[in-house]
Amino acid sequence: MKIGILGLGLIGGSLGFDLRSLGHYILGVSRSELTCQQAIDIGSVDQASVDLQLLAASEVVFICTPIRFIVPQVEQLISHLPATTIITDVGSVKAPIVEAISPLWENFIGGHPMAGNTDVGIGAAQRNLFVNRPYVLTPVATTPSRAIAIVEEIVRSLGSIIYHCEPEQHDRAVSWISHLPVIVSASLIAACLSETTPEIAQLAQNFASSGFRDTSRVGGGNPELGVMMARYNRQALLNSLHQYRHSLDEFIHLIEQEKWEILEDKLKLNQQSRPNFVE
Ligand code: NAP
Repeated sequence: MKIGILGLGLIGGSLGFDLRSLGHYILGVSRSELTCQQAIDIGSVDQASVDLQLLAASEVVFICTPIRFIVPQVEQLISHLPATTIITDVGSVKAPIVEAISPLWENFIGGHPMAGNTDVGIGAAQRNLFVNRPYVLTPVATTPSRAIAIVEEIVRSLGSIIYHCEPEQHDRAVSWISHLPVIVSASLIAACLSETTPEIAQLAQNFASSGFRDTSRVGGGNPELGVMMARYNRQALLNSLHQYRHSLDEFIHLIEQEKWEILEDKLKLNQQSRPNFVE
């Protein structure tokens, strides 16, 4: 199958690697000439260009640009495509994207691979990024079943675990497990930076080890991605943050009141519940 990828970065470049090794012919379009050449050189795409026209021959196009460019790029792209071409995107937020694109292009299905890391650009692309990772698809009532079936087949061939839900359900769920952790982790780093005694601040930096590495990873990543999550999933993220502030206040209260047994009970419940999310 001829598959187009628009936006050759971490996600687009990684998709290219895997889809190519599955035997598909990959047409890549990106903003920079250098990125296009690099994508060809590393074997992520068969052909690449900065011109959207290259994607005209694609049967399916994956939109892998940063969130804010997804809708404007689709608006430009569709004049180059026959109506049978299926478009899907990989944006980390779904409701505003699906709402904007569905009326423009019937053969559109929103998607979100729950895979990635904090690096960006074509140099960060890696093979097998999507294996055993959830891949959420958010078809709506008007999405043609053929488009759903074809995108599902491609996603399944990447080794991903497919989930379907409504775009709004996706956004509320990811606000808990993806967007809230980014802001919480960012607040953690900001709090550490507020230490005013230089000697203590230096010692903290010297002592930081695996616990700090784990808890600060997502808050110390790509600022653009963090802003996009907050901007495009604002309401769900605010709801999660308000609930998080409530939880934090409860913990502060228990510690101030020295209610160690209740604190231990809460921590035990957390210890029991964590595997429901990460195992
Ligand atoms: P990325 O590494 O920055 O890649 C995006 C690429 O898009 C850039 O390398 C850039 O390539 C290209 N680009 C930017 N603006 C463009 C435009 N106007 N037209 C064409 N190409 C353009 O970002 P990413 O992490 O792959 O994220 C891409 C999408 O995947 C986002 O929508 C994000 O929400 C989603 N996502 C990310 C993750 C994650 O963990 N990172 C996980 C799941 C989904 P040039 O070098 O050509 O400028």
